[in-house]
Amino acid sequence: MKEHWQNYINGEWVDGGAGRLDVINPGTGEKLAEQALADAGDVDKAVTSAHELHLSGALSGLRPVERGRMVQAMGRYLLEHIDEIAQILTLEQGKPLWEARIEVEGAARYFEYYGNQAETVEGRSIPLGKGYFDFTTHEPYGVSAQIIPWNYPLEMTARSLSAGLATGNCCVIKTPELTPLSNAWFAHAAEAVGLPKGAVNIICGYGHEAGVALSAHPLVNQIVFTGSVPTGIAIASAAAKNVVPCVLELGGKSAAIVHDDADLEAFENDVRWGIYFNAGQVCSAMSRVIAHENVHDELVERITNVAKSLNVGPGIDQPDFGPTMGAMVSEQQRDRAVDMVIEAVKEGADLSTGGHKLNRDGAFMEPTVLSGVTPDMKIANEEVFGPVLSILKFNSDSDAIKIANNTPYGLVGGVFTKDLDRAMQASQKLRAGQVFVNEWYAGGVETPFGGYGKSGYGREKGREALWNYVQTKNVAIKLKD
Ligand code: NAD
Repeated sequence: MKEHWQNYINGEWVDGGAGRLDVINPGTGEKLAEQALADAGDVDKAVTSAHELHLSGALSGLRPVERGRMVQAMGRYLLEHIDEIAQILTLEQGKPLWEARIEVEGAARYFEYYGNQAETVEGRSIPLGKGYFDFTTHEPYGVSAQIIPWNYPLEMTARSLSAGLATGNCCVIKTPELTPLSNAWFAHAAEAVGLPKGAVNIICGYGHEAGVALSAHPLVNQIVFTGSVPTGIAIASAAAKNVVPCVLELGGKSAAIVHDDADLEAFENDVRWGIYFNAGQVCSAMSRVIAHENVHDELVERITNVAKSLNVGPGIDQPDFGPTMGAMVSEQQRDRAVDMVIEAVKEGADLSTGGHKLNRDGAFMEPTVLSGVTPDMKIANEEVFGPVLSILKFNSDSDAIKIANNTPYGLVGGVFTKDLDRAMQASQKLRAGQVFVNEWYAGGVETPFGGYGKSGYGREKGREALWNYVQTKNVAIKLKD
């Protein structure tokens, strides 16, 4: 394990003007490594390098198929190094090793998908009548600033970086303070595939220092932010001051509506992935189940059994797929989740299982189920970002939709029923950017993802995301008579 990790600016590995940060292994509570911290001066160097590369045209002027091949090759590079990357990711983030491998594969998949899309960003010709020829082109913005959260540091960077590069943007990534290490492989990949210096800059720094400097930098042309609502508001404000577009992928309090004709046995698997994958630190987690009164008690029992079946321990000891859950990212995040459960019980919720931290070193929390939750409770409205599922009850379809839509968020939603008409009605009425019918997380890199309401705006993933990274230019030509 390397002790000291640097930032990557203009093709060079460098220390940071803000000193170093201790990266902690949440599976043990011990120091893992030191990470260089960028200050505003380092941010300026990274943005300037990206800006100069953009002006040179060395990336944006490439034939798209060539750029696309390099983007695809970055994904293959990640897969070739999956063993080492997954191990670092587990050690810095806490997730089981098998989950970390899934994340590396997921990150690689973005490069495959957007590398393939690079040569599909075509304009159109618009008829203006005799005497004119008109066409549109889509040009990269220039410098794309991408600010990343700690829960899926690889996938979240891959999601924006792959689309940004495929469309010809030069990118500056601000990695999360808690989990900065695994992002180093994007720099290695960029070098290995021959991207020009300045195309990929990877810097870690504090949000209030490097994050603020990056989002306010006058040479940044477009911002993608994934993280919490308050930070999203700060970044959107900074973007507005420079009049640059931004995409905000924020939090959620997403609900699965389970009707009395649903396949309850199959739903157990949705619970296992929906709320206990990555110890519930997923923006689109199934953090609420809204259960029909006829199946409510059976569901509480089934869900409680799923939670109880999971072994919780250090991710590095969990190499193989199985009923396991790792640490949360930090003791602070864990304690916040435990406190929210205590408060929910005070408000009248029933603790069906879990709710406590584990009596061992590391940021561990028991898989938790709260039943008897009502829509007015804080736990039904605020994101826990931990392995805590709240179960609410409904007795009519309209009641279920009302409860599901009763939070300020709107990231994803789910409906579980054999009745197609009922599922379609729900899919139209749920206030969410993505609706899952009979399988939580159905979809993939190909399907657009993003929020309604306080979950943000703009879409990542799918064809839709490409348009975040390009601006349209119209060229109208007056022909000689
Ligand atoms: P956060 O907002 O605290 O931090 C995210 C990033 O923003 C970090 O890199 C941080 O350093 C930076 N930052 C903090 N303050 C900043 C500022 N003032 N200006 C610029 N940058 C700043 O979020 P987090 O705690 O790292 O992540 C958890 C949140 O992210 C949850 O709410 C979760 O739902 C959300 N999330 C959303 C998605 C999605 O795709 N919708 C995906 C993952 C996580």
